[in-house]
Amino acid sequence: MTLGGKTAVVTGGGRGIGRTVSLRLAEMGCLVYVNYMSRSEAAEETVLQIRNRGGKGQIIQFDVADFNQTQGAFKEIISRSGSIDVLINNAGITRDGLVARMKESDWDSVLDTNLKGAFCCAKAAVKPMMKNRWGRIVNIGSIVGFSGNAGQVNYAAAKAGLIGLTKSLAREFASRHITVNCVAPGYVVTEMTDRLDDSVKEKMLGEIPMGTLGTPADIAAAVAYLVSEEAGYVTGQTIHVNGGMYM
Ligand code: NDP
Repeated sequence: MTLGGKTAVVTGGGRGIGRTVSLRLAEMGCLVYVNYMSRSEAAEETVLQIRNRGGKGQIIQFDVADFNQTQGAFKEIISRSGSIDVLINNAGITRDGLVARMKESDWDSVLDTNLKGAFCCAKAAVKPMMKNRWGRIVNIGSIVGFSGNAGQVNYAAAKAGLIGLTKSLAREFASRHITVNCVAPGYVVTEMTDRLDDSVKEKMLGEIPMGTLGTPADIAAAVAYLVSEEAGYVTGQTIHVNGGMYM
């Protein structure tokens, strides 16, 4: 599965799942633009690791939820690299709380980053993809977009929305050989899940038939398949990577 000469953008590529996805795409031959919001040192470390392994990477700062910033950043990438072939909409945040206590700002920020962010980036990325008549977009969803989760009404709604966005984009661009798919992780060890209470972590572990937590590499493997040439006839789909937690 090689993608030599292609340019990829990974939103939130500085750490967690995004870092491992960035490393995997660079191994496949992509020049990877590692996006970050505020933690430049994490994105720089990802690019350093890419280069140490003989790959090509660049950092790029933008807020996925800001329409003007994303359009400007993607124009900049196209002018520097000539194209964008692969987009991984990975950036995501949580602002958990039961609905009775959830603030309007918690709803807005999660919907803006996790759902509007994917719209902003996809809108900017499909232009060069249409020109090349080739493209790959992978949206990182979540198990809770399918199952729902008490305390995550904002996050679950955003992730469920990503499925509708994925399928609609897939239909719009299939004839141009641009595939749009989703990877829905279960419970993966990253900073996002580190901050959960131990009791919550233990309960989740008990719900995973495989009895172990997922790793960023498990998610990156599914992404690598979906962006490959071999997956050219797969579009509008979701690959669930969750150890059997949701079937
Ligand atoms: P992390 O919290 O470890 O990392 C989140 C990343 O998103 C960071 O790189 C952060 O950038 C970036 N980010 C956040 N907001 C923005 C923004 N507005 N613009 C640009 N970048 C932004 O998360 P994970 O690696 O755990 O999660 C990655 C994706 O996987 C998310 O979409 C998440 O919802 C999804 N997921 C994760 C699961 C898990 O168990 N971990 C389970 C299911 C889904 P910066 O470093 O600059 O802050």
